Amino acid sequence: GEHRSTDVNAIVEESLNLAYHGARAEKPSFNVTLERDLDPTAGMADIYPQEITRAFLNLISNGFYAAAKRKESAAEGFEPTLSAVTKNLGGRVEIRIRDNGTGIPQEVKEKMFNPFFTTKPAGEGTGLGLSMSHDIIVKQHGGTIDVNTEAGVFTEFIITLPRVMAAG
Ligand code: ADP
Ligand code: MG
Repeated sequence: GEHRSTDVNAIVEESLNLAYHGARAEKPSFNVTLERDLDPTAGMADIYPQEITRAFLNLISNGFYAAAKRKESAAEGFEPTLSAVTKNLGGRVEIRIRDNGTGIPQEVKEKMFNPFFTTKPAGEGTGLGLSMSHDIIVKQHGGTIDVNTEAGVFTEFIITLPRVMAAG
């Protein structure tokens, strides 16, 4: 694909909508509350839109899966939620994708970026999402990706991308 200066909030919003409609198409009963807190000054990054959207879709879909999974055994009233937050850090823009799902145990955390590593039943996961997302974000875009998680409580992927600085 092509790379160009792209509005980060717009890409995040589009990825949320694509992921949500994709999940609904696959399973009409799918329901996760979407939250956003998008920094109006988040700005632009030099992006391959197709690829970065694929990376965000992977992260969001993982979050949906984990939140829906936790709901299966959660108390009544548990609301599966996925949130996207952007923040202008100056030279970089930060994107946080957070779910209130199952969390990630240490032994999974150590392997989850490896290609073909999955904890999902056959047919539900290829194990390629995180390794692909990592390569797209880090190798293709000069970004970073880190994870914060607490088993049984939440998972948050923290991405940064270099911002395109305004001239002048
Ligand atoms: P897949 O989704 O096909 O399993 P991924 O590479 O996307 O492959 O993820 C690898 C594994 O990392 C998942 O099987 C799961 O165990 C774990 N994982 C990734 N994201 C999350 C998340 N948001 N919450 C809990 N576990 C996660
Ligand atoms: Mg995945």
